[in-house]
Amino acid sequence: MPYQQMDDKSDVDSQKPEKMFTLKKWNAVAMWSWDVECDTCAICRVQVMDACLRCQAESKTDNYGKQECVVVWGECNHSFHYCCMSLWVKQNNRCPLCQQEWSIQRMGK
Ligand SMILES: [Zn+2]
Ligand SMILES: [Zn+2]
Ligand SMILES: [Zn+2]
Repeated sequence: MPYQQMDDKSDVDSQKPEKMFTLKKWNAVAMWSWDVECDTCAICRVQVMDACLRCQAESKTDNYGKQECVVVWGECNHSFHYCCMSLWVKQNNRCPLCQQEWSIQRMGK
């Protein structure tokens, strides 16, 4: 989810309440418009916030799987499981959804 990625900027000025409001609003809009494409890994068809199919199969414990399986966002803003994408790019270095050249924008949960 986009708004968990913002913690790398320490924002300590007086604008903070206003910025938080803006971010929240933007995030809500983004979630509406991106719904399926952005929240589901196009490679394994599992929600990106859950562990990917492979990790679920390897670990029966949900919490363990969730910690190990990170999400990766490309420059095109599509997100996938890092596990899935690292296998995918070995065969095709393009985003499975939009066919843009794959370039990692950020990783995390
Ligand atoms: Zn996946
Ligand atoms: Zn995984
Ligand atoms: Zn894409």
